[in-house]
Amino acid sequence: MKHIIITTSNTIEGSTISEYLDIVQVCMVVGTDMALTSLLSSPAGRYRDTVNEVYSKALSLLRLRGMALNADAIIALQSDLEEISNRGKMRFVQTLVGTAVRLQGGVQVNTSEDVVPLAELQRCVKSQQMADKLKDMDYMPDEDDWGEIINNGLYDLAPTLYRRYLLTNRDILNNSSMSQSRMMNDCFIPFLQSMGYDAAAEVVYSDITTNPYTTHDVAKQCKLFHPQRIAAMLDPRNKHFVISMLDCEKESYTKHDLELMKRIVKYLDNLPDTGHYETGRSKRFGKSGIILVCERGHTSAVELGGHCTETIERGMGVCNLNVKGITESEVAAINAFKQKVLVLQSLLNKQ
Ligand SMILES: [Zn+2]
Repeated sequence: MKHIIITTSNTIEGSTISEYLDIVQVCMVVGTDMALTSLLSSPAGRYRDTVNEVYSKALSLLRLRGMALNADAIIALQSDLEEISNRGKMRFVQTLVGTAVRLQGGVQVNTSEDVVPLAELQRCVKSQQMADKLKDMDYMPDEDDWGEIINNGLYDLAPTLYRRYLLTNRDILNNSSMSQSRMMNDCFIPFLQSMGYDAAAEVVYSDITTNPYTTHDVAKQCKLFHPQRIAAMLDPRNKHFVISMLDCEKESYTKHDLELMKRIVKYLDNLPDTGHYETGRSKRFGKSGIILVCERGHTSAVELGGHCTETIERGMGVCNLNVKGITESEVAAINAFKQKVLVLQSLLNKQ
């Protein structure tokens, strides 16, 4: 795990700042189930522990933000704690803000192979303990677990956590408690982002079937459009997933990306027909013309390239598949992608 120095000062002794990256901020709201009066009347330690806990959690999140920027340090840290009493319950709003920077030569890390630093040993033990807990599919990581995962950079758990994230989002109405699934949302995404583009993409593209909608959402939110991984799955069976990914982005595009994106366009242009056309009389409309028989076996009178007009759920939706088995919005997504590829090509050729 990358070590990030966090300090309230504007400089780091013995190091030179080579780049100012961005301001990083965390605002964390933590509620306690204690009434204000009982919190104040309880031993001072309880209040102090709560405050310390909020601070250290916010600090972990700030560290993640820094890691997402590939920073070496966060300097000029400022902290603000507000206490809000709402209906007699205490809430803490902890704000942390600092400046993420890169240092000349990075942070010195001991890389000697014969020595296992205590921190690394502890990290691996924690990772194993957490993996054991997560083997129980009913077990949802709680706040303390997330603290451990984030603070210790337990990245080897990322595929397991991702699968859990997919299931949580799919079953959100069924069995996961709201606060735990919200925590999953709040913590998993920054955790994933802190891994870096290629490592995060490896995790996200490892499972495209459990919950494709969420896979797309994550890829879109984290800018994980990965031409290479998508180009490796250009099978007609994956067409809906591939098309769904076309509106995702990545931070920058290379000529190699462009070549892969052109390959994706070619695949989209050559999708096999899943339905067929007939000429004749439509049963429903009685007029003669082109009839589309979609892959679901519906018949509708259309123009060439048209979409099935059969209602599939009573009063709800229309089938909308064309002869290639894709919907109007999918066709629009493909056209937008083709346009993006053309623009990208002209930009890269200029260079
Ligand atoms: Zn249809």
